[in-house]
Amino acid sequence: MDAPDRAAGGDVSRRPTILLFDIDGTLITCGGAGRDAMERAYAERLGAGPAPRFRFAGGTDLAIARRFLEEAGAEPTDEAVDGFLAAYLRHLPDALAASRAFRVFDGVTALLDRLAALPDIAIGLGTGNLEAGAYAKLRRGGLDARFAFGGFGSDHVERARLLARGAERGAAQLGRLLDACEVVVLGDTERDVAAAHAIGARCVGVATGPLSVEELRDAGAHHVVDGLGAPGLYEHLVG
Ligand SMILES: [Mg+2]
Repeated sequence: MDAPDRAAGGDVSRRPTILLFDIDGTLITCGGAGRDAMERAYAERLGAGPAPRFRFAGGTDLAIARRFLEEAGAEPTDEAVDGFLAAYLRHLPDALAASRAFRVFDGVTALLDRLAALPDIAIGLGTGNLEAGAYAKLRRGGLDARFAFGGFGSDHVERARLLARGAERGAAQLGRLLDACEVVVLGDTERDVAAAHAIGARCVGVATGPLSVEELRDAGAHHVVDGLGAPGLYEHLVG
C-alpha cells in the first residue's frame, strides 16, 4: 500500500470538511452592482423618490426586500417580496455588466484551486444571495463553476437557517453524515460569524468587507484573515 500522499495537502486523518463561502465582501466585491439592482427594483416596484439607504452586508435578499417594502409603507407579503426580488434578478445582469469596480479578491482563485485538489472537501456557498443572484455575481468573476452547492438567500430569510441547508447539501455531496463532517463558514461580517456559531460551525472571518480584523475577532470568529489570499489560511482549513 502506498504511503499517504501528504503532498496532496493536509492531514490525512482530517475529518471530511464542508466549506461554506460567503460571496459579497469575501470572494468578490460587485462594486455596488447588487445595491444598484435592488434600487432599480425599488424604483420599478415602489415608485417615486430615492430608495432608502440601509446596510446590506451580511443580510439576506429576502430580508432586504422586506425592508424596502416596509420602508415604502407597503405590506411585505410573500407576493410583494417575490415580485420585488424578481425585478431585482431582472436588473442584476445589467447592473453587474455596468459595474466598473467589480473584482475578485486577491488569492481567491489560487485558494480554490488548492482546495479543489483535495479529497473529502466540499466547496460550497453560504450566502444571503438568492441562488440565481449568487451565480450571476460569480459568473461575472468566472467563479460560478467552482461551487456545486450552497445555502442561499432563497432557502431562508435567516442566515443560520440557510447555512444549515448548505451544510446538509455539502454532506450529501460528500456522501457523509453531516455529524461526521467539519463545517467551516468563511465570511466578512459579524452576521456570518453569529450564524456559524448558531449551527456549530467553525468560522473564518475575512476582513475584505466592512469589518476589520479586530472587529471580526471581537465578533467571535475562530480565525481571522485579511483576505482569502492570506498565508497560512489553506493550512488552517485543511489542518
Ligand atoms: Mg458578505
